[in-house]
Amino acid sequence: MRILITGGAGFIGSEFVRSMLSADIDCRITVLDQITYSGVEENLAPVAHLPAYTFVRGDICDRDTVDAVTAGHDAIVHFAAESHVDRSIEGAVPFVRTNVVGTQVLLDAARRHGVGRFAHVSTDEVYGSIDVGSWTEKSPLAPTSPYSASKAGSDLLALACHRTHGLDVVVTRCSNNYGHHQFPEKVIPLFITQLIDGQKVPLYGDGANVRDWLHVSDHCRAIELVLRGGRAGEVYHIGGGTEITNKELTGMLLEATGRGWEMVQQVPDRRGHDRRYSLDITKIQEELGYRPRISFAEGLAATVDWYRENRAWWEPLKARAALS
Ligand code: NAD
Repeated sequence: MRILITGGAGFIGSEFVRSMLSADIDCRITVLDQITYSGVEENLAPVAHLPAYTFVRGDICDRDTVDAVTAGHDAIVHFAAESHVDRSIEGAVPFVRTNVVGTQVLLDAARRHGVGRFAHVSTDEVYGSIDVGSWTEKSPLAPTSPYSASKAGSDLLALACHRTHGLDVVVTRCSNNYGHHQFPEKVIPLFITQLIDGQKVPLYGDGANVRDWLHVSDHCRAIELVLRGGRAGEVYHIGGGTEITNKELTGMLLEATGRGWEMVQQVPDRRGHDRRYSLDITKIQEELGYRPRISFAEGLAATVDWYRENRAWWEPLKARAALS
């Protein structure tokens, strides 16, 4: 299979590329990535020498680039996005441009070039917030941040392209990811790297917001299952079954880094902060046999170790993004 991966130099996309190329001898991959502030080409260094791998630096909103790259591929797995909620609150336009316009440019190119399957990677945040119970794939979309609104828009465009034009689209919606190679502006790597260096960490509001955490490798395995076996026009949830509050998460990270609560600084809550996310993952379990493999305790310990051992990876990124 010849697969075009957008956003393949980012956190989740690079894990997908590395795992596909190490496991599937029949797979050829082209990565299209603009290398924005969160893209790191060296994330792909372990596969860069492989003949089955090609890297193209380019913008998914640029129709000519996307056209030139899309031809000859059997499938697209679309990760590229502006992905940080806090940045979307400061300025939404790049989110609308990349997440909405960029997705439509890719869908159009997929149709023009007869791409067989379009896997659109999305998020549980498109549903807004839920106090009790869990969302199913049929729950109404009610996004609350510019990030989640732009992702919801892109999901609907992808599904509309299936209904209107018959493109073979599948959409995945996943809970919060964590693991190695995550850009250090996101809560887990931010807290780990701050605490390793003896610097305080900011906890939003009362810390009672609940998130479901999934290791990035479990997410990528699920995307591969949906890419190969998902039904056209369908949405699939991907979750980890580990719901914890931000305060509990902070406690685990303090313990893992040998720090105390004096390192935690309570800061005003994020504007529009969703209280709880929760996905029902029955559909992907029953249809495609998906089960997360990495427990949160095990995955978090490995993640803390990775950031301890890979300062050369994250320190320049933090400096670049002025994060400490
Ligand atoms: P990331 O920010 O680490 O990576 C995004 C990648 O996209 C970067 O390599 C960046 O250079 C690239 N990119 C951005 N704009 C581009 C453009 N215009 N053209 C080409 N490339 C561009 O993000 P991530 O955490 O790896 O997320 C990947 C996808 O997964 C996103 O679509 C996100 O919405 C989705 N998702 C993320 C999570 C999570 O917890 N991180 C959870 C569910 C879904």
